[in-house]
Amino acid sequence: MSPTSSSRRRTLTSGALAAVAALVAAGVQLSPAHAVPGRDAAIARAKANVARNADLFGFGAGQDLQTKDVVIDADGTQHVRFDRTYFGLPVIGGDLVVHQDAQGRLKDSSRARGHNPVVRSTVPTVPAKTTAAKALAAASGISSATSEPQLVVWAADGIARLAWQTTVSGLGKQGQPSGKVVVTDATTGEEIEQFDSEHEATGTGHSEYTGNVTLGTTLQANGQYALIDPARGHTTKDAHNLAAGSIKASSGTLYTDADDIWGDGKKFSTDRATAAVDAHANTAWTYDYYKNTFGRNGIKNDGKGATVFVHVGTNWDNAQWSDSCFCMMTGDGNGTTDPEQVDLDTMGHEMTHGVTSATANLRYSGESGGLNESTSDIFGTMVEWYANNSVDTPDYLFSDQSTPPWLRRFDKPSLDGSSADCWTKKVGQLDVHNSSGVGNHWFYLASEGSGTKTINGVTYNSPTCNGSTVGGIGNQKVAKIWYRALTVYMTSTTNYAGARTASLNAAKDLYGTGSAEYNAIAAAWSAVSVA
Ligand SMILES: [Zn+2]
Repeated sequence: MSPTSSSRRRTLTSGALAAVAALVAAGVQLSPAHAVPGRDAAIARAKANVARNADLFGFGAGQDLQTKDVVIDADGTQHVRFDRTYFGLPVIGGDLVVHQDAQGRLKDSSRARGHNPVVRSTVPTVPAKTTAAKALAAASGISSATSEPQLVVWAADGIARLAWQTTVSGLGKQGQPSGKVVVTDATTGEEIEQFDSEHEATGTGHSEYTGNVTLGTTLQANGQYALIDPARGHTTKDAHNLAAGSIKASSGTLYTDADDIWGDGKKFSTDRATAAVDAHANTAWTYDYYKNTFGRNGIKNDGKGATVFVHVGTNWDNAQWSDSCFCMMTGDGNGTTDPEQVDLDTMGHEMTHGVTSATANLRYSGESGGLNESTSDIFGTMVEWYANNSVDTPDYLFSDQSTPPWLRRFDKPSLDGSSADCWTKKVGQLDVHNSSGVGNHWFYLASEGSGTKTINGVTYNSPTCNGSTVGGIGNQKVAKIWYRALTVYMTSTTNYAGARTASLNAAKDLYGTGSAEYNAIAAAWSAVSVA
């Protein structure tokens, strides 16, 4: 195909195109105002209006105006917004808006209080910057890491004075990136004001797997929204295809967005934020499941949020939890049948590995490894039941959205071709994702019972290994028993026999020996040959 002539017909010169490309590469958003004809003329007229009415605007020697925004109404009326500097220093509270007609004649103005930034005292001996910074960090209540204090003219109360403005950034209570702006009088060292440099927000996400979702986001000081969940402390980042083994918590880039509306709802999306929507929302659902069901305050029960990476590796059809990084990593699928690995049960599975590490810490080999994997499958699935989403409906299929039709299933695990339905002496020799079948099968039988059953449109048929017929007590009760077994009774070397004992101890604590729940748990273990 020959080169099209369309690019040559464009009126932009290549130099202009390069300039735009440079702005885009630098992450600068071109506001629609840039495209409005007459913008430059409006700015020039507004500057002239300020100079001509210097008394009104408190505009004098040493001052300069910096255009912040231009709004032109349908009838041509112009509103030009300026920030102001004084001998090069930003004037806090010195901003103004010039309202002028279509011909640029001054009609009115809006002025912040500090429109006469003449510093009252002579330029003082300013305190050392490091002293200011230390005081600010101490006052802020968040940990260390301080930006260089910036000298400003602070005039927000109408009285101009020299001040140090410092953004103290570090980690908030939940481990999320957090910041405060602190302003101190440069002469006296007194604090003038402090405020959060970031604000909680609620974004809208168009997800791949769960329709439209709300997202916990943070409005940053630069006016961009970020995928930092203020309630839970989770941070979602783009790994830019870095391999999982190379990722640290500081890797990748935080997702930011101008309008707090994220993603396009498509699988294999070209919008890199789409997978991030699912990851951010599903991590929140997992956090909420543990919190609202068990009172667990985050993965380590310490209120701290994890870092979540999407777009890890290239065609990496997997997801992973790392204790050392306190991170979840998710791949983009195999590029053909499997989309991004960020669906509800997958995210719940990976976070549960963190919970297991923080509790029983089941060794990741032999039967304890199978129990570790089964625990992640069980609670990953329970997160799906908890979310009760109308698009990704609750089921006993694992990773059915990101690995269609499913990666593993609970009613008869051997249907995947390699998982175990029943305990044998050799089950501990299997890969942990296959020896997990015994635990998954137990969970299904204890929850739903044996035989054929259709739930939310999916038909299951669960056999027993001992020819018995067992009844289920519902997955919420079984999950409650399993959580207590995991967090109170199991240890790093627990095997299937030990898991039976641990879950019966938990059932006894919660429902009593000989209760229907206790008996159902015992019968389900016997039905998978764990005596
Ligand atoms: Zn796993």
